[in-house]
Amino acid sequence: MLKLTFLGTSAGVPTKQRNVTALAIECLNPYLSGSNQQASKSRPWLLIDCGEGTQQQLLHTKLSLHQLVAVCITHVHGDHCYGLPGLLASAAMSGRREPLTLIAPQAIATLLDAIKLTTELHFSFTIDFIAIEEVLQTEENRVHIALNEQHQLSIDITLLSHRVSSYGFGITQNISRHTLDTAKLIAAGIPAGSLWGRLQQGEDVMTDDGGQLLSADYVDYEKQRTRVVVAGDNDTPALLSTVVVGADLLVHEATYTTDVLTKIQAKNPEFDPMHSSAYLVGRFAQDNGVKNLILTHFSARYQSFENSDSSTPNMAHIRADAQSVYQGNLWLAADFAQYIVNSATDLSDHQETDRVQYLGSARSDIVETK
Ligand SMILES: [Zn+2]
Ligand SMILES: [Zn+2]
Repeated sequence: MLKLTFLGTSAGVPTKQRNVTALAIECLNPYLSGSNQQASKSRPWLLIDCGEGTQQQLLHTKLSLHQLVAVCITHVHGDHCYGLPGLLASAAMSGRREPLTLIAPQAIATLLDAIKLTTELHFSFTIDFIAIEEVLQTEENRVHIALNEQHQLSIDITLLSHRVSSYGFGITQNISRHTLDTAKLIAAGIPAGSLWGRLQQGEDVMTDDGGQLLSADYVDYEKQRTRVVVAGDNDTPALLSTVVVGADLLVHEATYTTDVLTKIQAKNPEFDPMHSSAYLVGRFAQDNGVKNLILTHFSARYQSFENSDSSTPNMAHIRADAQSVYQGNLWLAADFAQYIVNSATDLSDHQETDRVQYLGSARSDIVETK
């Protein structure tokens, strides 16, 4: 189960309604009981991109910088990374001690080094920097993060097409649970004790009388997999065709509508958008069987209201552009919008269409105005 909170959904520059790009992904373990689930230490999260002002956006949510496990930066453009130094400095000032994984283009390390040097910034925690360029030279193309033995993340990386090197992150969460069949053990005359624990850990054990007990006979294994693909700025969605296979959700930029793009290009034939239109992403999602799609990173020219009759560019036009070719579940992200992504095992068959659900706004202090 992954919970997404959009912290910024504007392209390039912030607007009054939208900050620049950032997305929080909480990695939730539904096998933990209700009270444990709520405990902050069981709510680790990832941050994908960190535009300027991301830390102020976070203040309106329940997310804590102490629980942040990793930051992934899609590319070096400022609307995706200018918030990083400030956010890390604040984490240090609030007394964070745990190491933080930072997965980013190599240039981001240079940026941080320069800021540390010129502003005499010292971190109270280690930053485990992983250069994307180096990950892509390995055969595996991915980074593994173990939250604990049962709760594992793997983040694979895909090179996209943009003015600078931009990447997509495929985030797969695997959670396993080993439940001991105690009734069966008791029925077999095996008393509670250390043997039970070893069996539960997957170990085959010998009993005192020389018999062998196979772990698989006494333990039920459940596994839960959730996968979300989050793309950076990209003008060629087809580059994601392999990694969206089996994904529960695709989050992709849709900076323009086809209409606006055509008008800009008519005025300036040299203009190279370097971004996708909603139509282009919709077409890709439809052709590749993507059932759930969230669009974000909208050009500031689009107003946040939805009215298809209005001549002012707005969200209705983005939606119509995508829906002209895409029949799956479509959402247009807004700042603080939250979504839950369930794994197949969270749901019964008839709920399969609700794999992704919109939860509302993380910002309860704002009354929505039309
Ligand atoms: Zn951007
Ligand atoms: Zn960019």
